Amino acid sequence: MKNITVIGAGTMGNGIAHTFAHSGFNVALVDISQDAIDRGLGTISKNLDRMIAKERITEDDKATTLGNITSYTDLKEGVSQADLVVEAATENVDLKLKIFGDMDQFAPANCILSTNTSSISITQIASVTKRPEKVIGMHFMNPVPIMKLVEIIRGYSTSDEVTETIMTLSRKLGKTPTEVNDYPGFVANRILMPMINEAIETLYNGVAGVEEIDTVMKLGMAHPMGPLQLADFIGLDVCLSILNVMHDGFKNPKYAPCPLLVNMVMAGKKGVKSGEGFYDYSESRKAEKVSASFR
Ligand code: NAD
Repeated sequence: MKNITVIGAGTMGNGIAHTFAHSGFNVALVDISQDAIDRGLGTISKNLDRMIAKERITEDDKATTLGNITSYTDLKEGVSQADLVVEAATENVDLKLKIFGDMDQFAPANCILSTNTSSISITQIASVTKRPEKVIGMHFMNPVPIMKLVEIIRGYSTSDEVTETIMTLSRKLGKTPTEVNDYPGFVANRILMPMINEAIETLYNGVAGVEEIDTVMKLGMAHPMGPLQLADFIGLDVCLSILNVMHDGFKNPKYAPCPLLVNMVMAGKKGVKSGEGFYDYSESRKAEKVSASFR
């Protein structure tokens, strides 16, 4: 396995491209938007600079890593040589079904098609392809170059061979793959999202303010960041989509998204990526404070 295509250059896509390119793979980074690709490559460059400053890599390593990445705005071109695709486009079922239908047509027959979806059924995604045994969930955590876990999700038809290949590949990236089955939210978000939703509900009910809720969880539970700050980093739109998928999938009201989350997303307050969520990232001082604690 040498050629990896990453679909989507956003929060997760650029981190996934960075990680594969840094491990010596040829990466094709595909996005519908040239702006998103430019922003993604800019983020990779900045993150590599941070590693140089910490003396973990050299300027040459940075040049090699960036040199391993080629970008495309055309999906057909981007997947034509792929041994593995990692799809990390926007969390939307219809969009992912369309992308997987197209990839099945344009990617080589032996190419494994994986998705970084946070919650959408791998089995449903696989059903639009003629190779469901080669479709698998590869759920990286944010920020990808730093976080060790990859949640590997087997769809109903995913083969043992493909699962083993992806487990081995994840280890080659220096990650710890963990195999789970295909139910809404898998394991990571089934546990994380109800906590984030409850933190938002606690704010909505006026029990405490944003910083107070985050402080309780950081200092009281030894979480590296509070749930509201984490939600801002994940993206409030992504959190809402995941809760909706779990709510629809389990038909259990305990997963219903808090009305405050719904309102914030409708108002365009998506967290770090839009400049405002539970915290204001437009003032550089606050943004710096938040990103420092994130590292
Ligand atoms: P994002 O909004 O930051 O980026 C999504 C990117 O996909 C954008 O650049 C957009 O232009 C691009 N895109 C949209 N349609 C496309 C298409 N047809 N072809 C190619 N590119 C397209 O989203 P994100 O946070 O990076 O999330 C991506 C995926 O990763 C989602 O499935 C999400 O659930 C999952 N995920 C997110 C996190 C997180 O912390 N944000 C963590 C784990 C998994």
